[in-house]
Amino acid sequence: MKKIAVIGTGYVGLVSGTCFAEAGNHVTCCDIDQSKIDKLAQGIMPIYEPGLKELVDKNAGRGTLQFTSEISQAIRDAEIVYIAVGTPMSVTGEADLTYVKQVAQTIAENLNSYKVVVTKSTVPVGTGKVIQTIISQYSSAPFDIVSNPEFLREGAAIKDSMNMERAVIGASSDKAYEIIAELHKPFTSNIVKANVETAELIKYAANAFLATKISFINDIANICERVDADVSKVSEGIGLDSRIGPKFLQAGVGFGGSCFPKDTAALLHISKDCGYDFKLIQAVMETNESQRMLLVKKLISALGSLKGKTISVLGLAFKPDTDDVRSSPAIDIIPLLTDFGATVRAYDPIAIDEAKKKLGYQCSYSEDPYETMKQADACLILTDWMEVKQLDLHKVKSLLKQPLIIDGRNLYQIETMQRLGFTYLSVGRPAVH
Ligand code: NAD
Repeated sequence: MKKIAVIGTGYVGLVSGTCFAEAGNHVTCCDIDQSKIDKLAQGIMPIYEPGLKELVDKNAGRGTLQFTSEISQAIRDAEIVYIAVGTPMSVTGEADLTYVKQVAQTIAENLNSYKVVVTKSTVPVGTGKVIQTIISQYSSAPFDIVSNPEFLREGAAIKDSMNMERAVIGASSDKAYEIIAELHKPFTSNIVKANVETAELIKYAANAFLATKISFINDIANICERVDADVSKVSEGIGLDSRIGPKFLQAGVGFGGSCFPKDTAALLHISKDCGYDFKLIQAVMETNESQRMLLVKKLISALGSLKGKTISVLGLAFKPDTDDVRSSPAIDIIPLLTDFGATVRAYDPIAIDEAKKKLGYQCSYSEDPYETMKQADACLILTDWMEVKQLDLHKVKSLLKQPLIIDGRNLYQIETMQRLGFTYLSVGRPAVH
């Protein structure tokens, strides 16, 4: 049983702290956001994540999981301090380390005994050394630093954290490595031991590789549209090759979320900073941006103009089973539609509150997809929610002013849409008119 302080109680800190508690450790999750801590103290989850509430309730109930904004005290009480604060994209594209540095300073001020300081936030190569320098400047107490990046997927975060495919541990000493490796025993037997810099880079390499797969298949999709080929068959045809694999080969509106856009941009910065011209990752980012516009162009070409038109947008979250809308396709696309003069009615089963924080009243919102379709000129699909995949398409057709669907997630069979009489424009597959 270890005493752990997790600083930053967001998607990553809350889930990993809860899972450490579930494994029998004593965990204090801390945040500067008092409203988050107050909610958690009342058993209200500040984020949507399947299975999270049950696990939080169980561990808070048995006293192994606590929540506080008293960060200093939590650090003093802990043997292991996890940094899980945000590292958002700065205006110039690099990772903003303001919060990480603030936390390093707070740790330094409260280092009352040997502690292992672990970075779980995604941070540029060299950040471990920066943290080490900040802490050493203010404290003479012994400590080690570890990079232990997070690989959970939102929407499956509990499952991913309880059964990790691997843990990456880059430690500044063997002692610290052993402590963090021991902590991970209940979660995985696959531990990649590396130095701190390598561990930091592994996280960016993983996300950049997955983003590359998505942009690659989107580029193939764009060729498919020009040569009458079908990208879903190309994905099947290449994905069955075990060297390639089927995952992250779904063509569509491009990647979003809190990680891929910012981490590809940050990796580009890291490469520039060390004098390397990483052309591939630049192209991955460009393809992703143009994929958003592609959907808007399809909509405009189908409707002639968006001025005075009503568009039903299905999906605000960047992917299903999460309320996270950071860099989601909908957040990028809805302002474009309204700029072109359209009225937008948006549907999402979970992410409306989060979307409102970004989009305000640029569109209206509904938790009923059919509500958004009444007399709408077109329907634009941006998230592959199961609820959208399972829509009653007869009802959809009867509600829309004209049966026009632009599908950024390739949710429906071409044959079905043909049979039902839709105009159906998806990505990299034959258009149905
Ligand atoms: P988040 O925004 O959901 O949570 C960050 C939390 O840190 C917030 O609650 C914020 O209030 C808190 N915070 C900020 N400054 C603080 C401070 N000085 N002291 C205490 N708390 C502070 O972010 P997230 O999605 O959990 O991501 C955290 C990190 O993990 C990022 O670096 C991200 O790139 C990385 N990551 C995220 C995911 C994911 O799926 N979300 C997956 C892997 C890695």
